Amino acid sequence: MTAQSAVFQCKLCPNNGTDRHFRGVGARMAAYRVCYSCDFWLMCLGYAMLGDQDPDGRRALRIDGVHYLSWTEEQGFPPEIGYVGDEESRYVLLDDPAGTVHVTRRLWLMGTIPDALRDRMPDNAIFAPPS
Ligand SMILES: [Zn+2]
Repeated sequence: MTAQSAVFQCKLCPNNGTDRHFRGVGARMAAYRVCYSCDFWLMCLGYAMLGDQDPDGRRALRIDGVHYLSWTEEQGFPPEIGYVGDEESRYVLLDDPAGTVHVTRRLWLMGTIPDALRDRMPDNAIFAPPS
């Protein structure tokens, strides 16, 4: 027997959404009537609205229109981890008048912010040159 799955028009873009995605994401997408991509970016928009932190206190970074998420050893990997490089990243928060350079090897590259959300998700950091 094949489980019925609901396919629907995304409220926010021309794509279709479905409730068949894993780990509860599908149920949320069906409730909001948004596709996987829009669901993902709504989560990122949520970080911006919560002061560039996720509910676990990880820091959202937007650099040159690309979205990243940092974490600490204590927090562990983000739950929906994407690509993680092993390179050292150095960044400066744009609203930090002291210009403190943060150094981390824990940076999740989440992707390029869609044009439709760029206005509401402006850059909040820049990469610092290598020391
Ligand atoms: Zn969509």
